[in-house]
Amino acid sequence: MEIKKQVSLTQFNTFGVSVNTPLFAEVRSSLELQEVLKDPRFEDALILGGGSNVLLLQDLSRPVIKISIPGIRIMEETEQTAIVSAGAGVVWHDLVMWCIANNLGGIENLSLIPGLVGAAPIQNIGAYGVELSDVFHNAIGIGRKIGDSKIFEAEDCEFGYRDSIFKNELKDEYVITTLRLSLTKTQHQLHLDYRGIMQTLDEMGINTPTIDDVAKAVIRVRTAKLPEPKSLGNAGSFFKNPVVLKDKAAQIAELYSDMPSYSINNQFTKIPAGWLIEQSGFKGKTFGNVGMHKNQALVLVNYGGATGVELWEHAQRVMDAVFSTFDIELEPEVNLIN
Ligand SMILES: Cc1cc2nc3c(=O)[nH]c(=O)nc-3n(C[C@H](O)[C@H](O)[C@H](O)COP(=O)(O)OP(=O)(O)OC[C@H]3O[C@@H](n4cnc5c(N)ncnc54)[C@H](O)[C@@H]3O)c2cc1C
Repeated sequence: MEIKKQVSLTQFNTFGVSVNTPLFAEVRSSLELQEVLKDPRFEDALILGGGSNVLLLQDLSRPVIKISIPGIRIMEETEQTAIVSAGAGVVWHDLVMWCIANNLGGIENLSLIPGLVGAAPIQNIGAYGVELSDVFHNAIGIGRKIGDSKIFEAEDCEFGYRDSIFKNELKDEYVITTLRLSLTKTQHQLHLDYRGIMQTLDEMGINTPTIDDVAKAVIRVRTAKLPEPKSLGNAGSFFKNPVVLKDKAAQIAELYSDMPSYSINNQFTKIPAGWLIEQSGFKGKTFGNVGMHKNQALVLVNYGGATGVELWEHAQRVMDAVFSTFDIELEPEVNLIN
């Protein structure tokens, strides 16, 4: 394993923010990870996957461990289901494509989500009506303090909306090395109820879709809607969609009859943060090198050369505006890194 000094992280975060780390190690196996975790210089290291869910605020004073553990295989199977095991360093979308090529269903709606496999359980990635927790079997993590290896079953992970135990009680305690998913080999359960997917399948002339068709539809929708980080620095949705009391949602709907909302249960309603940001006047508006994207107001964009602080200041500007207009506090989905 090579350890490098003074490494630029510009290529390692999808915002394209230019910051450095004093020490950088790339690990390609659990053993290499255990070795580097024993090195006292890496005690408080930032664990980095694809850097698509982090905002690096400034030059880091701490090292970085980049996770590049490869490998995808079927671990166990029956006639109907298969457990697929993937290394934390596998590109998430490559895993989705591998599963589709092997006719394994369950993660087709999660096509094209950037980042690596190891980060997927951290925030319980989700899109178009499916979340990682729907197919999660278990995950292996290495303890950062004593290098112990632990298997996390679904019930250990406390999965929630873009949330898990790894963002809360176990924050910075374990590094995920392997993820195992429980997928279908036959009778795939398709999730087509999300707006846009059915319509796109119709446009593609498909009436009885396969998992491959669903993945293609998702890819089409995402490509049309979301800016590609290689050309426009971003980390996808910057904020979580707020969940508010039904009374509160009803008050807003009285003033804005077109307010979109999704009922969570008989007490709470989810309101799209992008809509709140648009109503607050920030959609497509630029402030220097930063702004909220013109097609998707939830996406904070670096139009070129913005610093982490400039991006965060803009995020706070948006949060303040949404709060003063709607009395709703937006919460960042992206991890802020000092
Ligand atoms: C254009 C775009 C679209 C997106 N769309 C979606 C979407 O539809 N749905 C969605 O859920 N997300 C979406 N995201 C967010 C992002 O893709 C996911 O959060 C992804 O899982 C992050 O993976 P990563 O490898 O880049 O993580 P990183 O950004 O590298 O890390 C994220 C966090 O996880 C920690 N971490 C990373 N790897 C490990 C590991 N192996 N063990 C322990 N901790 C680790 C890091 O320390 C950090 O705190 C989008 C991002 C972009 C840029």
